[in-house]
Amino acid sequence: MIKPENNTFHTLSIQTTYQCNMKCANCYLGHMLNNPDYADIDLKVFEDSISKLPGKCDIRLIGAEPTMNDNLFELIRITRKYNHRPSLLTNGLKLGQEDYVIKMCDKYNRTTGITFPIMMRIKSVGKMGNHLDTYTYNINELINIAKENFGDFEPVFEIDGYKEKNTCTYKFQTEIGVMYGKCTDWTIDDDGLPDRGSKRRGILTKEGMIMPFFEFYEEEVNVKKKK
Ligand code: SF4
Repeated sequence: MIKPENNTFHTLSIQTTYQCNMKCANCYLGHMLNNPDYADIDLKVFEDSISKLPGKCDIRLIGAEPTMNDNLFELIRITRKYNHRPSLLTNGLKLGQEDYVIKMCDKYNRTTGITFPIMMRIKSVGKMGNHLDTYTYNINELINIAKENFGDFEPVFEIDGYKEKNTCTYKFQTEIGVMYGKCTDWTIDDDGLPDRGSKRRGILTKEGMIMPFFEFYEEEVNVKKKK
């Protein structure tokens, strides 16, 4: 676990809330989903931590479902205030409300990156108490699948000087303009964790510390098992 001022991660996930407007049986949050024991992120802890990051980061606003957090717009505002890049990982249900989306875009004068998780779950792995699943695709297979769907493109494995063999981005043309996609290979290692050792993916704890993304959830699952 490291302090925000010592952050080395390129992408920092923020567990904005544990609430969701869906209840998927295979939700990676397991017992934490819609559990009142798990509070929304504290705005003061968030701003205090974000303000100390030594370099520009992708601030990935996740949840369960980040649009269930009433302070989401404020989280985006704070992210931009400190010159980081906000993105939403959302199931998209609330984005069906036009006034909500217009308010979000108007308020910040430009849009925020939005990710809809298109899950290709091939194999469920029990080592994480079934709270974390993984995919059996490797990165080249994922790129080929993306090409089948979006046409040919040149995958980019380096962004802002940061390289990672397990993740690449690409851009493709749509009717509404250029969009960006990302492929990530989440094949697990011998300990049952995907992407271990990656310097890309960190997460902010409720105490305002930073730890590797999947190790954070592994810890939560193990804490629950011990109770
Ligand atoms: S967080 Fe995602 S996976 Fe979990 S219940 Fe909500 S939509 Fe489903």
